[in-house]
Amino acid sequence: MKNIKGILFIAAIAIITFVLWLLAVLSEPIVPLDRVRHIVAGLALSGFFLNFLLATRNKMLEKWFNGLDKLYIYHKYIAIVTIGLIFVHSAIGELLKTSDQAPLPGALGSLSLGALVVLMGITLFDKRLTYEKWRFTHKLMIVPYTISLFHAYFSSHIPLLRFSALGVWVGLTALIGLSSAIYIIFFYQRVRFQHKGTVTNIVKLGPKIIEWEISLNSPIQFSKGQFIFIKVYQDGFEEAPHPFSISGGNDKKITLTTRVSGDFTAQLYDDLNPGTKVAIEGPYGLMDFSKGKKKQLWVAGGIGITPFMAYLRDSHPDQEIELYYSYQGIDSGVYRQYIEEYQKKNPSFTSHFIDTATMPFLSFEGVSIQEDTSIFMCGPEKMIKGYVNYFRQNLKGADITFEAFKLR
Ligand SMILES: Cc1cc2nc3c(=O)[nH]c(=O)nc-3n(C[C@H](O)[C@H](O)[C@H](O)COP(=O)(O)OP(=O)(O)OC[C@H]3O[C@@H](n4cnc5c(N)ncnc54)[C@H](O)[C@@H]3O)c2cc1C
Repeated sequence: MKNIKGILFIAAIAIITFVLWLLAVLSEPIVPLDRVRHIVAGLALSGFFLNFLLATRNKMLEKWFNGLDKLYIYHKYIAIVTIGLIFVHSAIGELLKTSDQAPLPGALGSLSLGALVVLMGITLFDKRLTYEKWRFTHKLMIVPYTISLFHAYFSSHIPLLRFSALGVWVGLTALIGLSSAIYIIFFYQRVRFQHKGTVTNIVKLGPKIIEWEISLNSPIQFSKGQFIFIKVYQDGFEEAPHPFSISGGNDKKITLTTRVSGDFTAQLYDDLNPGTKVAIEGPYGLMDFSKGKKKQLWVAGGIGITPFMAYLRDSHPDQEIELYYSYQGIDSGVYRQYIEEYQKKNPSFTSHFIDTATMPFLSFEGVSIQEDTSIFMCGPEKMIKGYVNYFRQNLKGADITFEAFKLR
């Protein structure tokens, strides 16, 4: 069932912030519109805090938001709302012409807004930006956040440094928000990649897809269907961690199947060597087929077949599974043969192959799906979104778990 704790968490933060700024005692009388300006600023500070907290990839938060991919969608919209609030705060300031503001805190407010507009503009709208550069501009968000905090502490008509419920709230959220930011920027990659291993086998499955085996120094506990972040220590390779679903293996040996989609995945395909050291963080993801109902419908788009493969390999599930595997061109349907063989040995498993190079796109119009079916979907965001909408509209109360291969 869909977890709503994440939405409740955001709502609780917003409500607490609103009420505390509304009821806070002022250091001097101000007009009602100025009170609104302060509340808007308080909500923006909480937006910053929430966004840095969500970016820590905390496992509990992942569950509250039904997976990291959905968590990052909330992250994106909170960022948009936060920048909107800062604009409103600044516009009201202009309207009120708050000339009583001390020059430095006032200038810090403008600086924060300017920095934020530039960074948000780049991260949200510059589609040419490589993921690495995009991530770097993201990390710089700590600058406008810190400036905004200074601005709030030293220009507010509410004495935030004096002991009060609001003072404690702003101090606490600032502490958690800044610690989360510092953790993400300086410590995440050093402390979280605890599973070390070596690449022990590489197989080219097609002109763009490889399957690579990793032997780990210590076992990793994961459910088949989950994904990990991996750092690959080979000269010339990008250093940043990348997310990939585990496509097979157990404990100390896992396989990943990766498709060329940019610089890093091209490096993997062209140059990855056996013996290369790796470090892994995770697992993440809520695609746990063993927790689904007896009847299951699986939809895989292209390389989105990987989590399903982890479950199918070396196992004989007792569920009744119907798989729809959609891919573009035979070179992309790399697991078709394996799945056909698997189907012959497993009567409760049925598969359908949709090669969109020669066939129309997969549609579920006219396909009868029983209500007590768990639906699992994985693949490109656009495709998955379309099917999620279709199933939500046409199968009331459908049990849907999905993962889009996108975290931004
Ligand atoms: C949960 C999840 C599971 C995935 N599983 C697989 C898999 O099993 N096999 C597979 O081939 N691909 C998988 N992907 C996609 C894979 O992570 C990207 O294709 C890969 O990181 C692209 O890197 P690049 O440098 O080659 O391409 P780029 O051109 O740099 O990136 C292409 C897109 O990939 C995403 N991306 C790139 N780098 C990162 C990063 N460091 N962290 C997060 N996202 C990034 C961004 O959305 C970016 O726009 C998965 C993605 C996610 C989110």
